[in-house]
Amino acid sequence: MALSRRSFLKTSAAGTAALGASLLDNPTMRSAFAAAVQETPVVWLASGCCSGCSVSLLNSLAPRIQDVLLDQVLPGHHISLNFHPTVMAASGDLAMQAMYDTEEKPFILVVEGSVMLADDGIMCEIGEDHGHGIHGKEHIKRMGSKAKAVLAVGSCAAYGGVNKANMNPSGSVGVKEFFKMEGIDTPTINLPGCAIHPDWFVGTVASVLLHGPEAIKVDEDGRPEMFYKKLIHDNCPLRGQFDKGVFAEKFGDEGCLYKLGCKGPVAHADCPERKFNSGTNWCIDNRHPCQGCTEPEYPYENGMWNTVPLDTVTPPSTYPPIMTDNKTSVDVTPGYAALAGLAAGAVGAKVMGKKSDSDKE
Ligand code: SF4
Ligand code: SF4
Repeated sequence: MALSRRSFLKTSAAGTAALGASLLDNPTMRSAFAAAVQETPVVWLASGCCSGCSVSLLNSLAPRIQDVLLDQVLPGHHISLNFHPTVMAASGDLAMQAMYDTEEKPFILVVEGSVMLADDGIMCEIGEDHGHGIHGKEHIKRMGSKAKAVLAVGSCAAYGGVNKANMNPSGSVGVKEFFKMEGIDTPTINLPGCAIHPDWFVGTVASVLLHGPEAIKVDEDGRPEMFYKKLIHDNCPLRGQFDKGVFAEKFGDEGCLYKLGCKGPVAHADCPERKFNSGTNWCIDNRHPCQGCTEPEYPYENGMWNTVPLDTVTPPSTYPPIMTDNKTSVDVTPGYAALAGLAAGAVGAKVMGKKSDSDKE
């Protein structure tokens, strides 16, 4: 579905209005909800970030942001965004007080952006105290130690992201790494992506409200498996071209985008099925290589347009597994053979067995 500039602005304005209404603490609205619904406050801190993840969430059309904030995320559960530096109606001391008041209740902390540590964190300030800027890391430490759960939203908050790229002048780290340094053990869930998909945020919030953060099954990089378990490469519509050995050599060519630096073979997320902008499009349908924005290594030291090694590629999800007696699949495709000619060290293809359902059990 095409999204015109007019629709975009209308949706964003509606989202902002909804957020503002929440922050104005409308008594009628509050009493109406309070009777039947359990409300969980949310504090959204923007640290070292471009606000892209906020924009992605505000653009969500299904569910719309006003539905997330004003309707029940789940039957009986509603969230109240008490602090968001980009869209909240309040400013100055009033805004800061809204954040500090939230400390008194069980709340969810959302961090967007990396934690900047260089020069004692002076590169990121949120609010002031007697005319002196308060460093973002101080807020994250204070609120993170009191929250009932923390969501590290976007690649920067999860792992340092673009801010942590080569040289890392801001001394950026992800939230979990920062908590480890500070001895904070609040359950923290990583939701990487540059930017995140709104569903990844809303779905995780719903799970936290329903069962608590401990019940969310995460992988070794702290990402919820319900969104980040699958490899992009295994569900990519161009996978057939990869397996046939048909590769684009330059932008605009037909074929799989691997040789143009596609990180799909190592990136985990459900982008091919979910797509962005309410299912309108996603990177590879737009003929752009996957940048692997959900991985801790993003944005990749070897560069955006260079290939990643193919160490653990499984057969695509759409193919039935071909099993031998010892249940190891034997699928060496022409695609792998074609790639064997690429620069030494760039590719080491090894096809892993695709496990049957009984094996997975
Ligand atoms: S390398 Fe990239 S473009 Fe090619 S099949 Fe894999 S995910 Fe799709
Ligand atoms: S396709 Fe790749 S680069 Fe695009 S959003 Fe998904 S993980 Fe990120």
